[in-house]
Amino acid sequence: MIGQRESVSGAHFAFTDRWGGVSAAPYEELNLGGAVGDAPDAVRANRELAAGSLGVDPARVVWMNQVHGADAVVVDGPWGDRPVPEVDAIVTARRGLALAVLTADCVPVLLADPVAGIVAAAHAGRPGLVAGVVPAAVRAMTELGADPARIVARTGPAVCGRCYEVPEAMRAEVAAVEPAAHAETSWGTPAVDVGAGVHAQLERLGVCDREQAPVCTLESGDHFSYRRDRTTGRLAGYVWLD
Ligand SMILES: [Zn+2]
Repeated sequence: MIGQRESVSGAHFAFTDRWGGVSAAPYEELNLGGAVGDAPDAVRANRELAAGSLGVDPARVVWMNQVHGADAVVVDGPWGDRPVPEVDAIVTARRGLALAVLTADCVPVLLADPVAGIVAAAHAGRPGLVAGVVPAAVRAMTELGADPARIVARTGPAVCGRCYEVPEAMRAEVAAVEPAAHAETSWGTPAVDVGAGVHAQLERLGVCDREQAPVCTLESGDHFSYRRDRTTGRLAGYVWLD
């Protein structure tokens, strides 16, 4: 259910794995994505189970309509009847409001400045890395009063640089923007390391307290991987303040 969980000075970070939910194959078991073809009732039940396991009110979890862009918005409550905006980063200064990001290979990025009381969740795949969704999230946080030197950054399970094969031209395109993302697969072909790129961006922004989950989604049978399975579920990363 909850694969990793950590608390730092009243800021909480959590990443799910694929087990402990009610979804049937190929979404078994804890699919938290609402736009991947799974039964809506199963997704709702899974979101309640995950929130319950975290001690979070499922009605106080904010989800995004992720589009591989670089837009970040500030939120102060659940969307309610409003349409869920097409953004890849959400930021809040509201305590007790949990921000969630969905992934299956992309990098889920959770950020918190516990002193300022500001958190953010971002979805960084290859396009988001290039477009700068993580710098956009940090910028939105600092506009609210966060200090990058105090930001705690945790990135969750994602496809690793030894598995994420891409055409040579695509690697060159990504590396031109973020050299740290230049990688090679374990079988010697061009690859992209999105996690390394995200951490390099955070480092340049002055975010020192960074940790990367040691899990590769494509290699782990306990995680959803889009590149491995195509039709599959979504993992979630959650960040919130006491
Ligand atoms: Zn891997």
